[in-house]
Amino acid sequence: MSIAKSLENLKDDLAASERMPLVFLGHGSPMNAIEDTAYSRSWSALGHSLPRPQAILVVSAHWMTQGTTLVDVSAMPRTIHDFYGFPDALYREEYPAPGNPELARDVVALLASHHAEGDESWGLDHGAWSVLKFLYPGADVPVFQLSIDMSKDLDWHLGIGKALSELRDRGVLILGSGNVVHNLRAMRMGGRPHDWAAEFDTFFAERLAARDMRALANRESLGALLQIAHPSVDHYLPSLTIAGASDERDDLVFMNDTIDLASVSMRSFVFHGA
Ligand code: ZN
Repeated sequence: MSIAKSLENLKDDLAASERMPLVFLGHGSPMNAIEDTAYSRSWSALGHSLPRPQAILVVSAHWMTQGTTLVDVSAMPRTIHDFYGFPDALYREEYPAPGNPELARDVVALLASHHAEGDESWGLDHGAWSVLKFLYPGADVPVFQLSIDMSKDLDWHLGIGKALSELRDRGVLILGSGNVVHNLRAMRMGGRPHDWAAEFDTFFAERLAARDMRALANRESLGALLQIAHPSVDHYLPSLTIAGASDERDDLVFMNDTIDLASVSMRSFVFHGA
């Protein structure tokens, strides 16, 4: 091997060891995928500032399972149009990024105590591709999804994040996609945020900034406020997985700290590794 070649390999190795950030994005309406909004613009800007990972693991609110955590091990995940009654243009969207079956099987092994299994039936739902198309528009970084086990309580999802955190040192960007507040029944076009929506959103931001992850996952103390902010916790759980993968070395940066339609928080955050 020539010296030039071995230096190149060394550079590759260093790139691989760079600790990847963690990203949680509030995705909101699927229309953000095809409209020029403040959100889609912020996702593009974020994409320019992020390092180029070797793979992206997405925890989306829209892949729910019961009693198991599935990992997409397919070579070419399909683009899933999992919404109803939207314009045709949204159904024509494709995000043709490859998967990474080898790494995905490593993740299955890593999560053995979390009842993880490989899966080839899912692909990329809109929680994943509607934001990825702005972060990495070339669709040239391998992507695979992890499901959320709806039978498990909140702290389990912090624990999954902790178990996944070592992937950050292997060039994997972990991306959570959901919403910090998500109550579709309480949506109001053009309405100011409900008091409870603002309260939960602020509580979440303060506890996250204080690294008090336990408070975010304590169903008893969250009580009725959690119930109204998240009648179903599917959009909340990805934020807990991202929180669980962070540690005290990370710098926390918030984005899009607004509440849309009175009851959908678009609050997003990035943990930048030191
Ligand atoms: Zn959603």
